Amino acid sequence: MKDIKDKFKGMFWGLIVGDCLGSPIQFTSKDDHEFITKMVPCRHFNTPAGYWTDDSSMAFCIAESYVRLKRYDLKDIANNFCRWLFEGFWSSKDHAFDVGGATSNAVNAIHYKGSLKNGTDGTQGNGSIMRFAPSFIMNYGAPDNVMLHEISDLTHNSQAVRDTVDLMASILTEHVQGARTTQQSIYKSREEVNISGWAVSTLQAALWAFNATNDFESGLIQAVNLGGDSDSIGAVFGQIAGAYYGFDAIPQSWVKAVKTYETVNELIETTINVKFGEMK
Ligand SMILES: [Mg+2]
Repeated sequence: MKDIKDKFKGMFWGLIVGDCLGSPIQFTSKDDHEFITKMVPCRHFNTPAGYWTDDSSMAFCIAESYVRLKRYDLKDIANNFCRWLFEGFWSSKDHAFDVGGATSNAVNAIHYKGSLKNGTDGTQGNGSIMRFAPSFIMNYGAPDNVMLHEISDLTHNSQAVRDTVDLMASILTEHVQGARTTQQSIYKSREEVNISGWAVSTLQAALWAFNATNDFESGLIQAVNLGGDSDSIGAVFGQIAGAYYGFDAIPQSWVKAVKTYETVNELIETTINVKFGEMK
């Protein structure tokens, strides 16, 4: 059990450090950016080093709801998304930023229409998998992925994204249980990796970096330095690799560089403890 706790913690913290490390070179092309190996400020968002973006904020919104209510509540998670978008709840700045188009449309639909399924078949961005860790923790041990699909459908109601969610859940389950995934990336080389914000390619880019390396640190450096949607590629890599290598494999210098890391750590640890309370 202690081992699973460490894997959950590695998965959630992996998301956060991946987002923070990758954010400064987001929107660059593959080899047209500074090579990142430590937390640096982000010029695009005018944030100091260690400030997270939407990926982490949305994950925190899911986790905060679960910790406060001690149970899964889709409407409450949806309400937290509104608090984030309109009030900056769990943003690293005083307002939400780096908000994806589909997510913006969806959260407005939640707020103004009460809609809990938002998007169309064409809504295939990586917004669901970038924020995935707390949903995975809540759903761990369930016989199906209904909860994972519901949370995903809040912003990305498409079969392509639900399929990507299922694949990510299966990889994370293998890793939490101690097996290294045998899933091979569709990309055979760095040159082939698609660095767009498409959910399918983001998961495959993260898988490419995971398969190409043997530790968390060098893998995340490979992942974020792909550029493109580097913060979300980093966040997805961080979850996959953190679930495999565990929390202790994440460089402490990265963890401690995250803004208010003790507060972040408390939310993450409490999320895991609530889950373990349920599993008893
Ligand atoms: Mg982001």
